[in-house]
Amino acid sequence: MNLNVKDLESLAGEGGLLVGDDLAARAAGIWDPEPIRAAALLRPRTTAQVARILALCNEHRQGVVTHGGLTGLVGGARTTADDVVLSTERMNDIEAIDPDGRTMTVQAGVPLQKVQEAAAEAGLKFALDLGARGSCTIGGNLATNAGGNQVIRYGMAREQVLGLEVVLADGTVLSSMNHMIKNNAALDLKQLFIGSEGTLGVITRAVLRLRELPGSRETALLGCARLDDVVCLLKHVDRRLGGTLGSFEVMWQEFYRLVTSPSSGSSAPLGSDHDYYVLLESLGGGDDDGARFEAILAEALEQGWAADAVIAASGRERDALWALRDDVEQTNSHGPTITFDVSLRISDMERYVAKVRERLDAAFPENHTWVFGHLGDGNLHLVVAVGEDSASTRRRVEEAVYEPLQSIGGSVSAEHGIGLEKKPWLHLSRSPAEIDTMRRLKRALDPAGILNPGKML
Ligand SMILES: Cc1cc2nc3c(=O)[nH]c(=O)nc-3n(C[C@H](O)[C@H](O)[C@H](O)COP(=O)(O)OP(=O)(O)OC[C@H]3O[C@@H](n4cnc5c(N)ncnc54)[C@H](O)[C@@H]3O)c2cc1C
Repeated sequence: MNLNVKDLESLAGEGGLLVGDDLAARAAGIWDPEPIRAAALLRPRTTAQVARILALCNEHRQGVVTHGGLTGLVGGARTTADDVVLSTERMNDIEAIDPDGRTMTVQAGVPLQKVQEAAAEAGLKFALDLGARGSCTIGGNLATNAGGNQVIRYGMAREQVLGLEVVLADGTVLSSMNHMIKNNAALDLKQLFIGSEGTLGVITRAVLRLRELPGSRETALLGCARLDDVVCLLKHVDRRLGGTLGSFEVMWQEFYRLVTSPSSGSSAPLGSDHDYYVLLESLGGGDDDGARFEAILAEALEQGWAADAVIAASGRERDALWALRDDVEQTNSHGPTITFDVSLRISDMERYVAKVRERLDAAFPENHTWVFGHLGDGNLHLVVAVGEDSASTRRRVEEAVYEPLQSIGGSVSAEHGIGLEKKPWLHLSRSPAEIDTMRRLKRALDPAGILNPGKML
């Protein structure tokens, strides 16, 4: 470490500095029981404290890695023994809710679920939702521009934020706590930091955009024979629902069979012979939404775009349908897995998945590959198990999944970010000019390279 730990002592308030055994007692991640590797961990409570910490670290060219809820899936929060960790865990206040302006002002360390619950108590909705909601933080969601289950309706994390406060590497507090939906007064600087994974600044506060709480929620699972049918179904329900389509998730047959197998503990709401399973949800506001939803699905069945369907008749049944889609853990029953999050045009999906399977089958004849995801957003997740996950095996699996994306203009990261894990593959999705511009931005905002060193670029 380039600093004397003593210099950090007064910077994060009482109990704000962890070193030695206190630090070693903390796990490196939600799935990584190893202790955090770091020289020190700081737990500031205020933006002013973050500013002082960064100013000092910048002066000493000391690397700083920001930690939110540590649920990130690409190694973006990984540390070395020399790093200082800046955890936002004590910056967890909801400062204000404005029900008429439909905004919420929060500190960066507030867990997503707490934001959702506070919005709901005010009769409003915070329109970002993902499986890690109980642990991930708003700061982490914005730093990774998280996606999740309702992007088709509300957009990604980027669309849920109106204002942002960020501390730059040199300690400058850049406060853009805008409350308005429209503000074209020159550059919208907050956009630079959303999705920058802690490499350009530390997000300390945000003004979140809230929506009206939907008055109805209709959920169904449909079985389809062909991906072309799934696409027709998507267009049909989106058109007929008139803007209320909230989710359009798809599970390929192997995934559905896995999550409804006897060992999964879940029962199968539909037979397991369909090639694709669509979980769709409408978030509406009218009293007759249920009947309309049913009629729209009946039309799809008549057209032959779906072969069978089940509509959730209660909150319990809805949760059971979502539990199937979320039960990714079942893939662990086949040994170590390698998980992917890619983005591509819907029209390319069938050929892309076939190509990946062909390459995996050639290299690993015994592989298990499960495909599912937010198809309505062009976002697929692939989970691959080939019996082991050594670095060389992982590399070969990654080649099989990532390389076919380049020629079809796909992305190696739909919503999880780049972190460390996807860094070697960024060039497949971004041009040299794009990467060069990112480097120039990094040099301009963090010339000493202290923020999340070695990540993303
Ligand atoms: C079960 C499960 C389901 C998931 N589902 C989804 C999903 O559907 N969609 C999706 O997009 N992701 C998903 N994720 C990934 C993850 O939850 C998101 O990436 C989340 O946004 C990370 O938030 P975090 O607070 O845990 O951040 P961390 O993991 O702590 O950090 C992630 C990155 O953000 C940086 N960072 C954190 N806080 C700040 C801050 N205040 N300022 C600057 N940089 C910061 C870190 O340095 C790191 O680079 C899932 C993860 C799990 C475990």
